[in-house]
Amino acid sequence: MTEVQATVEKARSAARWWGGLSHNERRSRLLAWKRHIARHIGELSALIAEETGKPQDDAALEVMLAVEHLDWAARHAGKVLGRHKVPSGMLAANHVATLEYLPLGVIGVIGPWNYPVYTPLGSVSYALAAGNAVVFKPSEHTPRTGAWLADAWAAAVPGEPVLQAVLGDGSVGAELTWSGVDKVAFTGSAATARKVMATCAETLTPLVVEGGGKDAMIVAADADLDAAARAAAFGGFGNAGQTCAGVERVYVERSVYPEFLLRLSALAVGEQTMTTPEQPAIVRAHVEDAVSRGGRAVVGGPSSITDSTVAPVVLAEVPEDSIAVTEETFGPTLVVNPVDDIGEAIRLTNASKYGLAASIFSKDSHRATGIARKLRTGAASVNAVLGFAGVPSLPFGGVGDSGFGRIHGADGLREFSRAQAVTRQRFAAPMDLMRLDRDPKVMQRALKLFHFRHGR
Ligand code: NAD
Repeated sequence: MTEVQATVEKARSAARWWGGLSHNERRSRLLAWKRHIARHIGELSALIAEETGKPQDDAALEVMLAVEHLDWAARHAGKVLGRHKVPSGMLAANHVATLEYLPLGVIGVIGPWNYPVYTPLGSVSYALAAGNAVVFKPSEHTPRTGAWLADAWAAAVPGEPVLQAVLGDGSVGAELTWSGVDKVAFTGSAATARKVMATCAETLTPLVVEGGGKDAMIVAADADLDAAARAAAFGGFGNAGQTCAGVERVYVERSVYPEFLLRLSALAVGEQTMTTPEQPAIVRAHVEDAVSRGGRAVVGGPSSITDSTVAPVVLAEVPEDSIAVTEETFGPTLVVNPVDDIGEAIRLTNASKYGLAASIFSKDSHRATGIARKLRTGAASVNAVLGFAGVPSLPFGGVGDSGFGRIHGADGLREFSRAQAVTRQRFAAPMDLMRLDRDPKVMQRALKLFHFRHGR
């Protein structure tokens, strides 16, 4: 038996214990884990900073956001998932109908390296709160952070191994996908998601995919340009641009385009470390493609990228078919293109194969919300970036190459549950059609009623 198989086996027995607890019993244990993480935030954020190269304050912010979600999931699981009555309807008025969301069993969580706590905990916390055991395969670039989270669980909730980590590269992820877990929660690139889905198809294992993004910001002519530029800089250059729902493209109404570029350029400073050795070459290829197709490098250019660091790059008037526009860059680069009107901005935003999130800047918040509703994305922020990331009651996830299924919020809890419908007959039906010796007169009456109700 391999290590992954043995770990999943142990998780199976832990799942029986954990799934058998009440929501209140699980909540107190989840909150004990939360307190452990919160009390050791310094140690954990130092480890994240060491493994990813991001500043420790950014790592601490990531932990703060993750803990907020964990707290919400622990406190809301009972209300969202617990058994409750639903209307039984006309045909089954003699039944009481109840609905409950029960655990699936063991969830395999496969995580990325860019937010090695916030991102996987979006699945792990909600899966645990829904009563499942979890086997977590962190990215091979952040193994110690992944192991730390599982050790923290064992310290806070000793006994059954409800949360365990298995370490290694993609081959370990593939093994976990094969292992017979009851669901896989994958976060990573669309290319890997395709491989994971192919394996899941073999074993008919359900899957949630949190994929990449090519998120756009739309800046209307009436926007607060300073606020929009600050948000674009944070969303585009923060975490060295390695944010799935960060800003990669900006569409600005032509009348304010030069002014926006000016204000954004003033904020495009500071060299940052890239987490993986492969990433700088990808970023350079995107910048070179944009420039060779006639895009203007307003700040920086191909020379901003060394073997391990990247300084911010602002690219203007980049052809929409450049890979800098069509593919996820995952570096501190922003493509800023002018548009004739908001209709064009919406069309270009939606032209992407990705659809994770977007942001809209306009002083007319009613109009901005209307624009958000026209975008083919799973989330949108008005007059801010990544606003949704810190709201635990909101679901998160994308469409297209950005994935499917949802983590966070009530949808995130249900994602790791099976709905179970139960009816209980209270009295015999006055018109009983569910019997072999059905009375033809009763059927006649039922048909009359049916026409009266639905055929008028
Ligand atoms: P990746 O696809 O290279 O790897 C993700 C995980 O999958 C890693 O743990 C890896 O070991 C594992 N893996 C690789 N091959 C596998 C296989 N055949 N079977 C099973 N598992 C396998 O992604 P990455 O580079 O680690 O992360 C960056 C990507 O993640 C970006 O595209 C980013 O946008 C995306 N991301 C998405 C979200 C979100 O919530 N939507 C959050 C963070 C990152």
